[in-house]
Amino acid sequence: MAYDRIHTLEEETVDDLRANLKDKKRVVVKIGSSSLQHMETGDLDYTKMDILVRELCNIRNQGKDVILVTSGAIGCGRKALHLKPPLTLAQKQACAAIGQARLMTTYQRIFSEYSHQAAQILMTRHTIVSDLNRRNAQNTFHELLRMEAIPIVNENDTTSTFEVEDVIGDNDTLSALVTALTGADLLILLSDINGLYTDDPRQNADAKFIERVDTLTDELISMGKDTTGSSVGTGGMETKLTAAKIATYSGADMVIANGADVRVIHRIMEGRNYGTIFKANKNENFDFAQFVDELHK
Ligand code: GLU
Repeated sequence: MAYDRIHTLEEETVDDLRANLKDKKRVVVKIGSSSLQHMETGDLDYTKMDILVRELCNIRNQGKDVILVTSGAIGCGRKALHLKPPLTLAQKQACAAIGQARLMTTYQRIFSEYSHQAAQILMTRHTIVSDLNRRNAQNTFHELLRMEAIPIVNENDTTSTFEVEDVIGDNDTLSALVTALTGADLLILLSDINGLYTDDPRQNADAKFIERVDTLTDELISMGKDTTGSSVGTGGMETKLTAAKIATYSGADMVIANGADVRVIHRIMEGRNYGTIFKANKNENFDFAQFVDELHK
């Protein structure tokens, strides 16, 4: 008697999902101001920056493309100018002009210690929404990656403002847009929290950690509202879930993990158990340029 082999579709375990991360070819890493500064003073933490750069160079050395999205321009400029908050818009933009240059100088120096090329790309919402600018930005990213350079991205805070509706507004969303624009297959969002919880764990002891998200439901997205954890940077959980939507609909997996120890980057990429993993869920009808055009309107 011949047996028909019955193939059951085994559900992918979270370990399978994580193991897939070993094969990723193009990775975007986002780090926020709070993960780059010393808590006590707000000055840059050079040790952390050094480890971050080493992690990124090591990904590059494995033949993978890597892009960094970094905050810290305004904070760095504010420290340089000895200004205390609250700042006017013009002061913030002046701080960004000074701080971005300082931030890049530091990154450039460390990247060159590891013999890698760092490249600066500053973007606004217009870079994504305008067809011509988007194509130009895409070409530049592709050319830089082909040259094995490491693009370092921030919002162009010096020129973009809500007043002229040119702002993306936070680097979580920016990093997801960069993921979509470059066709990256993994986005790692480093945060000051371990990942996604059912509620803010700093305020609710019963909040449960969510290990994986396969589908972004409206319920999940509304859970992220009003949960900005840190006093620096602009990203709470809401912006992270917006980022998750852009990244996963564009076909990338995303991981939110704690950036307190930036060595978490290689641990995630080795498929180890860190952070919340959002499974790629490519949606052919999703237009990220249109999505960002409608954001904040
Ligand atoms: N682009 C801002 C900066 O570099 C930070 C935005 C954010 O943290 O989300 O200062």
